[in-house]
Amino acid sequence: MKTVIANWKSNPNSLREAARLAKSIEKHASLNRKAEVVIAPPFIYLSDVKKEVSTAKLGAQDVFGNEGGAYTGAINLAQLKNTGVKYVIIGHSERRRYFGETDEFINKKVTAALAYGFKIVLCVGNKEKMSDPSNFVNKQLTADLKGVSSKDKIRNLIVAYEPIWAIGTGNADNPQSAAEVSLRIKEHINKLMGVGKIKVLYGGSVTDKNIRSFISRNKIDGVLVGGASLNPSMFGRIIKAANELG
Ligand code: PEP
Repeated sequence: MKTVIANWKSNPNSLREAARLAKSIEKHASLNRKAEVVIAPPFIYLSDVKKEVSTAKLGAQDVFGNEGGAYTGAINLAQLKNTGVKYVIIGHSERRRYFGETDEFINKKVTAALAYGFKIVLCVGNKEKMSDPSNFVNKQLTADLKGVSSKDKIRNLIVAYEPIWAIGTGNADNPQSAAEVSLRIKEHINKLMGVGKIKVLYGGSVTDKNIRSFISRNKIDGVLVGGASLNPSMFGRIIKAANELG
């Protein structure tokens, strides 16, 4: 089964638009049940999006790796769980870049969210184009997964390979090289913790036009979609493609 995750980032600007978007995604998810569909809206819309979905799963774009207390502005693990969130995106390049998140900080969130039973979508990726990004990406993974072992519900780990230069630029990676990096990631996780069956997604300017070239490769288990997930008809076609190739 291929996974399609909608990362709405800091969009849309009204609850009404968020509900309309969620309704449309739910409709496509329910018609294409061979695809696993996840919606990650801004925190403020989580409860309302939840009311619109039954087939699509609820995701969060980030989490504070703590159970609560005196942490102004933080949304914690228990709050997300009690709101019905099943998936948590951690280490998105925009969190790393604009909010100063380090591998050490991300590692704490990863450990806490896995222990809490979330499916985590750990994002890694190189800033500039590289002939072989695997070494860079695997170093990030080693740091982000420090201390995590095969006992730590590692079956709930999903890795999203997102070359930063491809995010939001309309300039997607070459599907063949994305598939090679995905394979190296699986081999690396296997070496790190003896588990080879994790899902690896591709993210970076995925559209209805290029999705098939990525997910038709068996090393790519799905896509993380930003911009195109805000366009209901385009995202519907992305879900349909994932269903057909699932
Ligand atoms: C993302 O935000 O993770 C992403 C891949 O964005 P876009 O699809 O817009 O490139």
